[in-house]
Amino acid sequence: MFVRGIEKETLMLLLEMGKSSHPNEYMVMLGAEGGIINTVYPIAGTVTGEDSASIFMDMIPLGMGFVGTAHSHPEGPVSPSDMDLSTFVETGQVHIITGNPFSETSWQAYDRHGQPKHLDIV
Ligand SMILES: [Zn+2]
Repeated sequence: MFVRGIEKETLMLLLEMGKSSHPNEYMVMLGAEGGIINTVYPIAGTVTGEDSASIFMDMIPLGMGFVGTAHSHPEGPVSPSDMDLSTFVETGQVHIITGNPFSETSWQAYDRHGQPKHLDIV
């Protein structure tokens, strides 16, 4: 399934989660139907800090279908860290980073290689 967009409600939820978890980072899995991201799968446990990607990988339930991830950068720009890039390549085709102040423009989607990816908001 090629992911081409995200439901506006889902994007708003991801931004809202960034606000509510601040100053901590959140990380979730993303599900899609018909090429549109429309589901957020919370991950059990608390993930804080940029070095938690390996913990995140261990928590993905076996056999669960998903298209990618989303996480927040509580203080920083929405560009992927080296740790993010190594996570992206293993965890699906689309990865969203939301950043402070979690407004409608403070997010970016990336492909598995860390290149910016356009998503239609539907
Ligand atoms: Zn990150």
